[in-house]
Amino acid sequence: SLEPLALLADAGLEVPVLGGGRMRHVNLDVAASAPALQSVAEHVQRVLPYYASVHRGTGYPSQQTTALVEGARATVARHVGARDDDLVVFTRNTTDALNLFASAVPGDTVVLDIEHHANLLPWRDGGRRVVVGRSSFATTLDALDAELGRCRAALLSVTGASNVTGEVLPIADLADLAHSHGARLAVDGAQLLPHRRVDIAALGVDYLAFSGHKAYAPYGAGALVGRADWLDAAPPHLAGGGAVESVGIDDVSWKTGPDRHEAGTPNVIGIVALARALAEFERLGDEARAAHEHALTQRLHAGLVAQAGVRVIRGFDDVDDRLGIATIELDRGSIGLLAAALGAEHGISVRAGRFCAHPLFDRLATRSNGLRASLGAGTSVDDIDRFLTALAALIADGPAYAYDRAPGGWCP
Ligand code: PMP
Repeated sequence: SLEPLALLADAGLEVPVLGGGRMRHVNLDVAASAPALQSVAEHVQRVLPYYASVHRGTGYPSQQTTALVEGARATVARHVGARDDDLVVFTRNTTDALNLFASAVPGDTVVLDIEHHANLLPWRDGGRRVVVGRSSFATTLDALDAELGRCRAALLSVTGASNVTGEVLPIADLADLAHSHGARLAVDGAQLLPHRRVDIAALGVDYLAFSGHKAYAPYGAGALVGRADWLDAAPPHLAGGGAVESVGIDDVSWKTGPDRHEAGTPNVIGIVALARALAEFERLGDEARAAHEHALTQRLHAGLVAQAGVRVIRGFDDVDDRLGIATIELDRGSIGLLAAALGAEHGISVRAGRFCAHPLFDRLATRSNGLRASLGAGTSVDDIDRFLTALAALIADGPAYAYDRAPGGWCP
């Protein structure tokens, strides 16, 4: 059987369940936030004694801290295949990176309706064109082609993989399309990067945004990587210390490079952890990671397709490549209560809702909410089987899971 590929900080965690017992936690909410790799947690422990002011301190710990941050920048650049003239700007997360980037784009942006809100809302009103996805990716590409031709956009911004369906988009095709119109391509790598290697130079991606907390590092650090010219010409993301060459009472000259957008003391621990997680996955190997998750994803989908009373939400009918994400809706009953019962009675974490992708969800789903199970490097076959068994048992109970079973009552 497939054991977890990597040891995560939550391995063996037990959680309380209704009735007073405890069960080994099954984490199938990895797409929301992945627990840190154990090796990343240990690395952070080693770094903490050197915790000191970054960039401007003169003491040894300060120099170490600065070296760690700049080393992390180099690791990120190497990991994503950045070109020599690309910048790596550290941000809080993908949302922060895309908001920063939105003010740097010198023109209109075309997006698909399949996007997470983080890649829908930051683009300037009036300068954002939303193309509604078609049933196939091929015809969606034609619709994007037509829109890019019509509006002469500066940017096409797409997700690398859907956080609802798990579908992995053909990025190189999207890059060719954008470039054929003289536009650039940005990829929201929040879901894709933690599970697949994304080489931006090889794929033709001009900008990539991602979050550390989905890539097996702690919360609070993310990155925007991409071509320097637009970023150097953009208004500074934050105004403050570190982003300036000099300041007078009435004037300021801003730096170029990553400093321009990183005013204030950065999240050193988050940045160091993020880079360490990426390096760990290089060590584990891209193929081992993809193979592990592929086998579990097949098992998850096969089990859900076979489950009566459940419909798996699919997007494009010509995209077969997907990450370990499956979103279902129920023929009847409350999906929110089903998700809560999985947690409260079976110690299984999933997510219910519309997953911050309301336009996509509303187009593909027939009900108002879905339940998403998502897996990763720490997932085992046993995790998938426990979920499928618990789901079948709750659905067999019929709408009973929607009733208050706990003596004291529980409310999701
Ligand atoms: N894009 C996608 C595809 C996502 O799944 C998410 C997180 N759910 C985000 C962007 C936003 O990431 P963060 O919350 O880390 O900014």
